[in-house]
Amino acid sequence: MPLYNSIDRKVLKENLMAEPFIRRTISLYRYFILENPHEFRDQLYREWAELNCFGRIYIAREGINAQMSVPENNFETFLNSLKAHAIFENIPIKYAVEDNGKSFYKLSMKVKEKLVADGLDDDAFDVTNVGKHLSALEFHELVETSEHIVVDVRNHYESEIGHFKGAICPEADTFREELVMITELLKENKSSKLLLYCTGGIRCEKASAYLKHHGFNDVNQLHGGIIEYAGQIKQLNLESNFIGKNFVFDERMGESINGQVIAHCHQCGNSCDEHLNCANELCHLLFIQCTACAEKFEHCCSIECRDIKNGSADQKQILRQAMTPKFGNRSVYRKSFRLVKSNNLEGSGAELGQKPTL
Ligand SMILES: [Zn+2]
Ligand SMILES: [Zn+2]
Repeated sequence: MPLYNSIDRKVLKENLMAEPFIRRTISLYRYFILENPHEFRDQLYREWAELNCFGRIYIAREGINAQMSVPENNFETFLNSLKAHAIFENIPIKYAVEDNGKSFYKLSMKVKEKLVADGLDDDAFDVTNVGKHLSALEFHELVETSEHIVVDVRNHYESEIGHFKGAICPEADTFREELVMITELLKENKSSKLLLYCTGGIRCEKASAYLKHHGFNDVNQLHGGIIEYAGQIKQLNLESNFIGKNFVFDERMGESINGQVIAHCHQCGNSCDEHLNCANELCHLLFIQCTACAEKFEHCCSIECRDIKNGSADQKQILRQAMTPKFGNRSVYRKSFRLVKSNNLEGSGAELGQKPTL
């Protein structure tokens, strides 16, 4: 069995759509020490490919982070296969709230330097000295009292479409930037109670340790992240304090938590929270676009990109050379790109350079 996928993306997507069975979208992560991540990766790949699992799985010397989909009929076997590894003992599995089973179309498993690309020097602070874990219900109740500071540790394109009421959502493109911004924004609030949250809880592990190292002494974090929170709220039939959509890094791009749309189309300003990548592959910008603008711009972020997309191969080659300096490695929209962005989104927190009223 090959240990890597080599089939064309288009074929894979068609195959996924034609599947006669249901898949469950789940996620799991754990920090542990691996002597040989490559060996472990190959072993897991064999086991999970055998069960026809799809997903994006990162393995590092420090543990595993997996977002994946498992065929319903193999789910029991999958859980048993986890049990065969001591390091997965009692690992919490988070189930997607809004799941069409089409979250991934292939199995991708990579060995990385780190689980979360944080650009941090882990030796500089104690990564095991994490904040206090709060259950979804504890977090829910604390968020409702106004004397605490709720901090979204995700990137700006994630918090733009959904966040906890009253949360501070820094305009960061990366996790590294995010940590620096939070530390700066809250430098006068080192003894306040901080309530951190992220998608599945993994980023909060690092963020809380980082903030504690920088002198914050009451750091708390949502255990299991928004995914766990959404599940609990649904089960307990409580009104969600998270408004909008939870951004997810798979084909679904986001799952709605309370049905509210809090973001706007970046081109016309209409209410919309659908992310997409610009159809001009030279640009590939991640942005929010409504259906009307999608039609007008042919799924591109601008007229310029639409023209490039429709150009001939020769034209493209010329443009590719001319455009590379302009597009560079732009992967998410920057402030300057935003033609329209409402300044008064409901419950919106602080933006960069604008200190929150605490
Ligand atoms: Zn629009
Ligand atoms: Zn574009």
